[in-house]
Amino acid sequence: MIKRLRKNKALADEAYIACEADNWRLLAERLRADNPNEACAFVLARPSRGVVRTTLILKEVIWPEDGEVDATPYSLEISADYISRAMDTAINAGELTGVVLIHTHPDGNGRFSPRDDWYENRLFPTFTLDRPSAICGSIVLGETGLDARIWWNDGTGLTTQDVNIVKLVGPNIRFIETPHSSWKDHPDPLVMDRSTRIWGIEGRRRLQNIRVGVVGVGGTGSITVLSLATMGAGKIIAFDDDIVKKENLNRLLGATRRMVGKKKVAALAPFIKSVATAKPFTLKPIAERGTTSEALTMLRDCDVIFSCVDKFAPRVPLNDLAYAHLIPTIDMASWIHSSKGTVDAIMTHAHILSPGIACAWCQQTISPLRLMREAQGNQGGIENRYGVDVDAQDDTEPSVLPLNLAGVGLALLEFMQITLGITAKTPNDLKMILPEWELDESDLSSIPDCATETSTALGDAAKIRPV
Ligand SMILES: [Zn+2]
Repeated sequence: MIKRLRKNKALADEAYIACEADNWRLLAERLRADNPNEACAFVLARPSRGVVRTTLILKEVIWPEDGEVDATPYSLEISADYISRAMDTAINAGELTGVVLIHTHPDGNGRFSPRDDWYENRLFPTFTLDRPSAICGSIVLGETGLDARIWWNDGTGLTTQDVNIVKLVGPNIRFIETPHSSWKDHPDPLVMDRSTRIWGIEGRRRLQNIRVGVVGVGGTGSITVLSLATMGAGKIIAFDDDIVKKENLNRLLGATRRMVGKKKVAALAPFIKSVATAKPFTLKPIAERGTTSEALTMLRDCDVIFSCVDKFAPRVPLNDLAYAHLIPTIDMASWIHSSKGTVDAIMTHAHILSPGIACAWCQQTISPLRLMREAQGNQGGIENRYGVDVDAQDDTEPSVLPLNLAGVGLALLEFMQITLGITAKTPNDLKMILPEWELDESDLSSIPDCATETSTALGDAAKIRPV
């Protein structure tokens, strides 16, 4: 008699699984090498818990040793030794660390069989017992598709929930929909016809269904959020605690004189909604900084984040979040250098923070010196300013809308690369530099002991300090 899987409770509206793309490729290749026999492995995983989404992030693979798994084309026998080794490793890795069982159905579809249900209903009580903070999971890899679910026990018994999407994250993202995907197509394909000819029906579907976070809705952020809505992004969360000022109007796209004195993000929301082409379209305007503890939790619901902040300090948690939670984040900034009262250099940059690309520390966007100077106040004048939203202390700051447009243009092309894979290569940090009129791609690589990148895929187990 097969006990019914208990699905009466959900951990979150959306359940996702994420894995570094390289890690996944090695894992799937090695498992499939055992074809036509089934194969399996345990993988350690930590949660990334947002508000509406819980993502289980895969990391270390614990491969079976000789004799620990007995496999045929239709069955697997997993030894008690292998199970207890996986269990001990997870416990030693910390209270948030769960265990995920991945197995193959070499020539079947990627669906859990009644035997899988029966077996996992016996296995997961052990893995989840007295570990209320850990989330476990299981994945079945078919010849083509896959299915996945998460398992947990908060003290009221073993519960499972179907996973909607599996994300493989590197310099770009591959989204794999499970049979429980909640993604929907745009109801009126004609609206999107022109774009669809560029990135295909699949690309349109992705834009419609992914959730994008925009941190900062000032000079670069206002252009970003309006462009995303116009392009067909279906879900946007935008953060900014600032109000519209008279002196911002020359670079705040969509802002009108009547908005002066109002919160930027709430003031712009009706216009953003009016240009949106996705259907349905949801915009959550949040009138607080995007790097508070609450905001960093909301950002865990996102698939891609735009960092449109104007200071160095908030880039620290956003950089950490990108790697630990596998959420590619595009950092943007413009910089104007003057000496003796004349502008002699102008730069704008767009940099994807994601596994496989060096982080903001390694690319030297943030450094201890810059953070220290910023914390001590803007003593040095314009040459220390980084970011175009730094409030002008007088009326001499040049108007920077064209520079912002160039930077956001680069960032949006990078966004298309991350989500739609428009070319074979994802660029490193891109800088457009004047007066040389040069587009420069950074050749800096990751520093071996970079703390941010060492915490890649650690999810909520990585400490991120809000600002
Ligand atoms: Zn780094």
